[in-house]
Amino acid sequence: MEMFELTKNNEDFIRKIKENDPNYFEKLKQGQTPEFFVIACSDSRVSPSIITQLPLGAMFIHRNIGNQVDANDESFTASLYYALVHLKVKKIVIKGHTDCGGVRAAWSGVEDIELVGWLNKIRVNLPVDDQHCKLTLDELGKENLLNQITNLKNHPVYKKYGKNVDILGALFHVESGELEWVTSPN
Ligand SMILES: [Zn+2]
Repeated sequence: MEMFELTKNNEDFIRKIKENDPNYFEKLKQGQTPEFFVIACSDSRVSPSIITQLPLGAMFIHRNIGNQVDANDESFTASLYYALVHLKVKKIVIKGHTDCGGVRAAWSGVEDIELVGWLNKIRVNLPVDDQHCKLTLDELGKENLLNQITNLKNHPVYKKYGKNVDILGALFHVESGELEWVTSPN
């Protein structure tokens, strides 16, 4: 895809929106009051906005490889704090997905020095060192999602500012497009 195609798509986007509402962007500039804070994987196939068809302004989103919730990650922690304290989001959705390359790499082992540190964060709570581990990649993906729900419940910023803000887990199925709601562990 060439740059001019990105520009053309952007112009189409503006035209379609203004056909419906000529003042759309003036209103968008007034500010954001998203209902959701979404934590999702960086994978190019799993865009939260596209799969839920929610408009601009509906979701404040943090993405990283393997949708990790890490109290030592300053970028994540700042996003979480901003979402809870300043945006006052109503719900937090942690969205994992099937066929996750981050989970696969954590599972199978990758030697790239630039990836190892991050993949170890994914790996640490997965039963991948267990000789008897019979889980499939997608089952490990679900396990990873459940781990991140637990990590969020234990995150000091969530504990301090997240009262009455529900945490929802969702697994996006790349093979079907379905969003499966996953029960949160206690
Ligand atoms: Zn992924």
